[in-house]
Amino acid sequence: MNNLLQLDKDHIWHPFTPLTGGIEPVLIRSAQGIYLHTDDGREIMDAVSSWWVNLHGHANKDIAQAIAAQALTLEHVIFAGFTHEPAIALAKNLLSILPSNQSKIFYSDNGSTAVEVGLKMAFQYWHNQGIQKRKVIALDGAYHGDTFGSMSVGERGMFTDPFAPFLFDVIHIPFPDAENAEAVVTQFQNLVAGGDVAAFIFEPLVQGAGGMRMYDATILNQLIGEAQHHNVLCIADEVFTGFGRTGKLFASHYLSHAPDIMAVSKGITGGSMALGVTSCSEKIVAAFQSADFMKTFFHGHSYTANPLACAAANASFALLMKDECQEQINTIAREHAAFKSKIANHRNVKVARSLGTILAIEIKTPEGSSYANALRKRIYPFFLERNILLRPLGNTIYVLPPYVIKVEELRKIYDCIELFLDAHVN
Ligand SMILES: *Cc1c(COP(=O)(O)O)cnc(C)c1O
Repeated sequence: MNNLLQLDKDHIWHPFTPLTGGIEPVLIRSAQGIYLHTDDGREIMDAVSSWWVNLHGHANKDIAQAIAAQALTLEHVIFAGFTHEPAIALAKNLLSILPSNQSKIFYSDNGSTAVEVGLKMAFQYWHNQGIQKRKVIALDGAYHGDTFGSMSVGERGMFTDPFAPFLFDVIHIPFPDAENAEAVVTQFQNLVAGGDVAAFIFEPLVQGAGGMRMYDATILNQLIGEAQHHNVLCIADEVFTGFGRTGKLFASHYLSHAPDIMAVSKGITGGSMALGVTSCSEKIVAAFQSADFMKTFFHGHSYTANPLACAAANASFALLMKDECQEQINTIAREHAAFKSKIANHRNVKVARSLGTILAIEIKTPEGSSYANALRKRIYPFFLERNILLRPLGNTIYVLPPYVIKVEELRKIYDCIELFLDAHVN
């Protein structure tokens, strides 16, 4: 075995990977555009944007140069009592594309912390006003991150079982679909009318880790409208859906009711640096604007608003706002939709979905759909052997490429998916 891989095996614990019987890691030397270059000379297409973070391709020059220049100017400074231009510019950039009611930006390091900050803001919003509201509503199948607050609001199951006694209570309502929509809205109305619900948290339009499950903007809009009518704070977790993934800059732009609090991360730096952001409306801010020191939001991380990450995010923002990039997003959306229609009736396809740059194909299996579905053990190597990185969620294959992917490259992925579907025997 390669010496580096042996050292990896000896010393490193990889995320979401069993220590015994897990997949052996592939050693990557470099990457360019949508390709990962392996140590042994292969070029692997990154069709999942390296866990949904990459927007403009790997080793993007603009982003790399922005980070390098920033590192030589100001690499970091404590963000309590001090500030800097990259953070200020980024706040301005973000507020220019977030729903117009968002008014302040709070920085952290990743999606989970962005959600934690959102939850803590919501809870303290009520606390600061001396109002006892403790209940939280979330959707079945939700994923909001791996820290305790974000696990609490997420779907309970194999990922959270060992921690179940330590998670706070959350009311999970059924995931809305065409059949149950009316019942879900009615249940939701009854819950929020109770007067003791502090917040409603959701992944707008697409549940990512939950299997790229999609639901209707009309229903979500109705739920947010009901919640806000009863003064329940709405937290949109756009960690995954932000920055063009769903075809619009944010999934919330498909809705007419804007959330009170938003969490974003993943694509924010184009996939180059760790950064999380929680934004909120003036209504939230007002509950913290007080001469009373005890109403301060006492939360922060050592690397809050790291200038390198902010500089990377500003460079990624500039690329995202170019017509070229928006056209790419539209092209991917069109190709995805066409392929979805093509394979929707394939004998091995249970259901195919697409929205913007996200394509998901649920494969028929006797086990029924789940993350632990045995099919994942066949799908992953099938594509990797063909130099395509697809990391299925159980029996759901999804394609989520960096926006710089070319049409021929997309079609190569689709062809490979068809090959798998044709060969697959239930
Ligand atoms: C990935 C994800 C998170 C967690 O983000 P991390 O950066 O992995 O902590 C939270 N919410 C959603 C919707 C996500 O997809």
